[in-house]
Amino acid sequence: MLDSVLVWFRRDLRASDHAALCEGLRRARRVYCAFIFDSEILDALPARTDRRVEFIRESLVELETALRQRGGALIVRHAWATSEIPRLASELGVTAVFTNRDYEPQAKTRDATVAAALGTLGIGFESFKDQAIFDGPEVLTQAGRPCTVFTPYKNTWLKRLTDDDLAQHATENGRLVSSPCATGVPSLEEIGFCPTDLHQVGIVPGMSGARRLVDDFRKRIACYREQRDYPAIKGVSYLSVHLRFGTVSIRELVSLALANGAMAGVEGAATWLSELIWRDFYFMILDRFPHVVENSFKPEYDKVVWEQGEHAERLFAAWCEARTGYPLVDAAMRQLNSTGFMHNRLRMVVASFLSKDLGIDWRRGEAWFARQLNDFDLSANNGGWQWAASSGCDAQPYFRIFNPVTQSGRFDPDGRFIRRYLPELASVPNKFIHAPWRMNAAEQSACGVIVGRDTPTPLVEHGEARRLTLARYAVVKRAAAA
Ligand code: FAD
Repeated sequence: MLDSVLVWFRRDLRASDHAALCEGLRRARRVYCAFIFDSEILDALPARTDRRVEFIRESLVELETALRQRGGALIVRHAWATSEIPRLASELGVTAVFTNRDYEPQAKTRDATVAAALGTLGIGFESFKDQAIFDGPEVLTQAGRPCTVFTPYKNTWLKRLTDDDLAQHATENGRLVSSPCATGVPSLEEIGFCPTDLHQVGIVPGMSGARRLVDDFRKRIACYREQRDYPAIKGVSYLSVHLRFGTVSIRELVSLALANGAMAGVEGAATWLSELIWRDFYFMILDRFPHVVENSFKPEYDKVVWEQGEHAERLFAAWCEARTGYPLVDAAMRQLNSTGFMHNRLRMVVASFLSKDLGIDWRRGEAWFARQLNDFDLSANNGGWQWAASSGCDAQPYFRIFNPVTQSGRFDPDGRFIRRYLPELASVPNKFIHAPWRMNAAEQSACGVIVGRDTPTPLVEHGEARRLTLARYAVVKRAAAA
């Protein structure tokens, strides 16, 4: 039995079904808990108003209350984690620091630095699998290599799954202790941030926020497959921000899918489970192929020459500011910019539009998403962008180019989503809502929407853009043939 352990919370802001906390309580006589607002991360954020910081802070308040109810406390500091964790561990005199594994390269470097600093103090460091069902070498090809194609990865994942993988990491037994260092959760102002519109955009942080969404989605999971592609409908779970910060456990969500028949072929639950497996898949890709952070997964795609110079800047700014003239793209970008969320179908549409209609390097879009998304997760975001730009491990082929008008007609047939975010198009007839520039002058006057005045003239013509993209990507074919 260890004497005492410090459990370091990061993206796992919950008090139950928590691997590191469970291990600490099982193996140590006393368990302290801490969270560091890491200056290395916060200082790099582009704005001092950031919903994610507020989400974390409010989730910490709830976590702190839960830990106090069980005799413990949460020590919260604002500093560089690399120096603060060793300092705190030494102050508390703990035997070891326990934490849950993170797969991002920067986090892995941070953890290695912390582990080394603790080592020099004679304090142990252990990390546990918590945010994924399987990680490391647990899902491999028959040849023993990482599975880089999703379907075989998923099949192996499903075959491997046992009750043990979904067993809760119990945190009810063992001894949580408080410390004079636990002086409460600092205010946003104290860590240099301003309040945001988090609640106005409908986000309830913390374990209680996650619980509400899970309870709501439980009633809708059966319809997930039919409804998940329509952004105007409440068809998805909206749990991504909670999964991002760990206010809900992935084991609980996979269990929910299984309880609703995912393994028995019930389509809603099975499709949703697939999405959760995509999440594991992209964690694994980031962990095993960290070059994807800067480069294409498939190196030949780094030969593609993207638009450059003033023209590219103009196109990129129009995309970011929802001024492309393609209603579905602009409505999606307004959803992102005003709420921090974008529906998955629309993430695919706007990512494809940026890289394949505008010819802009996918990394620029990825960075814009990273800045705007409440649920920004390096692994899923990078995976999604590389999928859309065709440079990813199991991406769509480069010659598959979404037509933004066809996508709009299919997934927002009567323009309900478009009109919600682009009220200036409210009076455009359904027939033209996906492509208002197809109205003649009389039709534009009749509905009071003049293209070029009330809505932007399309930045590019899709057919022409498609032709340019096929030419741009031809270099990939040549590189593969060489
Ligand atoms: P649901 O449809 O209810 O799915 C449940 C959960 O499964 C999600 O919360 C998410 O954790 C996971 N999931 C679903 N789809 C994917 C996927 N394709 N890849 C990995 N995990 C998935 N997801 C993020 O969490 N963070 C990101 O930064 C992110 N960036 C993306 C960028 C692009 C270009 C694309 C195409 C997709 C991106 N996704 C990202 C994946 C997906 O769009 C979101 O997870 C989903 O829209 C979140 O809504 P939801 O919670 O209602 O999802």
